[in-house]
Amino acid sequence: MKKITVLGSTGSIGVSALDVIEKNPGRFQVVALAAGKNIQLLQKQIERFRPQLVSVSDNQKACELRNLLPSKCRTRIVSQTAGLREVASFAKADIVLSAISGAAGLIPTIAAIDAGKDVALANKETMVMAGHIVTEKAKKKGIKILPVDSEHSAIFQCLQGQKTENINKIILTASGGPFFNYKINDLKKVTLKQALKHPKWKMGKKITVDSASLMNKGLEVIEAKWLFNLDIDKIDILIHPQSIVHSLVEFVDGSLMAQMGIPDMRTPIAYALTYPQRINNDLPLLDLVKAKSLEFYPPDMKKFPCLRLAYEAGLCGGTMPAVLNAANEIAVEAFLKELIKFVDLPVIIDKVLNIHKSIKNPSLEDILKADEWARAQTKELIERIAS
Ligand code: NDP
Repeated sequence: MKKITVLGSTGSIGVSALDVIEKNPGRFQVVALAAGKNIQLLQKQIERFRPQLVSVSDNQKACELRNLLPSKCRTRIVSQTAGLREVASFAKADIVLSAISGAAGLIPTIAAIDAGKDVALANKETMVMAGHIVTEKAKKKGIKILPVDSEHSAIFQCLQGQKTENINKIILTASGGPFFNYKINDLKKVTLKQALKHPKWKMGKKITVDSASLMNKGLEVIEAKWLFNLDIDKIDILIHPQSIVHSLVEFVDGSLMAQMGIPDMRTPIAYALTYPQRINNDLPLLDLVKAKSLEFYPPDMKKFPCLRLAYEAGLCGGTMPAVLNAANEIAVEAFLKELIKFVDLPVIIDKVLNIHKSIKNPSLEDILKADEWARAQTKELIERIAS
């Protein structure tokens, strides 16, 4: 039995992971869970999986959760950052699924690595903010970082048995999001509801907006740089509206290897949790005859400037990717509250990036400071726009 800790258990990835675990009795045991505020769902998860340790965002939520649980329940409830760290480094786990959304995922992921746990990584922000620190720590501890993001899982699968020096480039595919067919001027009028209607994937709100702006793909480029130890100029993007080819590797002999499947996160989650094994799942199989055609287009960086900004921040390195990520998180939060328009997102992020003086080879402290600075700058800009 593989012992698993799930960080972000009440989110889209967390719920899919628990579904994989539930459908494979005898293979996995959930030992700890971490969530934020959704204690109703967490209560059900605790009763179903009986973890030994659970963390929630704050003391009040911890109190409410204890009151919801039957008195005979043996799960220990902890809270706040210290509690989240305790869950992430819980000694009983073999592997930690890192699926908290946003920068909040960084510290617990580092805690899991420091505790010597393998990490199934969904939280791309960890790599975007602190890829050099995380990969170095993982190397020192001798632990595996297994990608959960479908594109990175695809690349990881294509690279099994291959040598890095034989890679010409990798190609991350993107569905193109809900606005792929829109004209540049039409983006001025798009609504929050339209942005949240992803054509292929059902995900949390933040990543759904990032997919609409293509910032998600930009963050994935930086994530791929660290996961596969590649220069940014060896990472390309192709828009592939069918979301069947999850990504590709081009080798020096011109061979292209792709991983294909239906768009369902339970496949890459299961692969990360069982690597190097594969397990049966009850998901529909990909029918290529029914799929008929697979289309590919170059990305339009004029229409989607967030992708260009992410490439530029990735190339600059240092604290710039952390600033990109923080500015994006705050701007997306404001868009979700309908304080700004969709087209304001890249304008705001660009302004913050422009006034940031990047620190080369930053420490974790430098990164956290840059993150805090960028959040304050972005909030100020948004207040000006909104007033
Ligand atoms: P969701 O918004 O659906 O879920 C986020 C989870 O994180 C929830 O469990 C939430 O708890 C928890 N959380 C948020 N903030 C905190 C915090 N400060 N402390 C503790 N827990 C917190 O996100 P997704 O599942 O969509 O995405 C999670 C991560 O996986 C992101 O980094 C995303 O980029 C990545 N990812 C997601 C994919 C997807 O298909 N969804 C695909 C590839 C990558 P609560 O709700 O209880 O407050």
